[in-house]
Amino acid sequence: MRIDLHTHSRVSDGTQTPAELVAAARAAGLDVLALTDHDTAAGWDEAADAARRVGIELVRGMEISTTHHGHGVHLLAYLPDPTYPPLAAELDAVLAGRRDRVPEMLTRLRGLGIEIDADDVARAAHGTAATGRPHVADALVTLGVVADRTEAFDRFLAWGRPAHVERYAAGLVDVLGHVRAAGGVSVIAHPWGRSRRRFPDHGDLVELKAHGLAGIEVDHQDHDAPTRAELRALAHQLDLVVTGSSDHHGAGKLDHELGVNTTSPEQYARLLDLAAIASARSGRPTPEVVRP
Ligand code: AMP
Ligand code: ZN
Ligand code: FE
Ligand code: FE
Repeated sequence: MRIDLHTHSRVSDGTQTPAELVAAARAAGLDVLALTDHDTAAGWDEAADAARRVGIELVRGMEISTTHHGHGVHLLAYLPDPTYPPLAAELDAVLAGRRDRVPEMLTRLRGLGIEIDADDVARAAHGTAATGRPHVADALVTLGVVADRTEAFDRFLAWGRPAHVERYAAGLVDVLGHVRAAGGVSVIAHPWGRSRRRFPDHGDLVELKAHGLAGIEVDHQDHDAPTRAELRALAHQLDLVVTGSSDHHGAGKLDHELGVNTTSPEQYARLLDLAAIASARSGRPTPEVVRP
């Protein structure tokens, strides 16, 4: 069984439609796929229809932009009821924050002599509610300013670069509560990826588990082998579920092919058990896993 629990479609900043992503997952030999677009459930229905058609198990999820003790934390939420009002309100606030920062990014780029406007970004964003830096990057590629997303981040959009603009993120502890009350389960994505230097640590994870955290994503391309080993040991100590995933973004992210990291069937089963418990306690109409 090959299980990939973290992927993006064009509904956020991937490059494939949800149906294309699901078909690609089947073609890549995956048995289970989770669609986890940034801050939105808007791709779920299309992905579920496609999963039934091509015969793959599909978990509806999302990757929520949160913050804790001043650090950005990406939280994977699986199988929550996205209409649970406190969760829906928080997602709306994050999406509004994504929209609101685009003009400031464009002002800064124009200050660097780059002719780019909101329509260029809108064309690259394909109607997504979760506009992000990757769409600004794609617009820069189309305009011939950079060769690819990586160059756009390195020169302009990454933290500390001239067109980087902060945006609103939800409080992590609040979101953990909302996801649980919405009948879902939470896993921290790439906890020690990129610049996130050993945060959250052991003490943070103890606290977060008490607030409902179910697991951590250990096998991710942003973690080298020693980091994975340390995180795996931490998860074992704290009895957290261990996941592994590609964080696939279609053609938008190199070295993140579908299935490049996977989650074991045992850990996946634990996650589904915890989701079933949360769902029963929530009393909410939570989404079911699509089974072929
Ligand atoms: P945002 O949500 O607007 O803050 O943008 C974050 C997104 O940009 C995440 O999905 C990352 O995967 C993506 N990202 C961050 N750095 C890079 C990079 N160097 N190249 C391509 N995508 C990146
Ligand atoms: Zn992304
Ligand atoms: Fe992420
Ligand atoms: Fe992601």
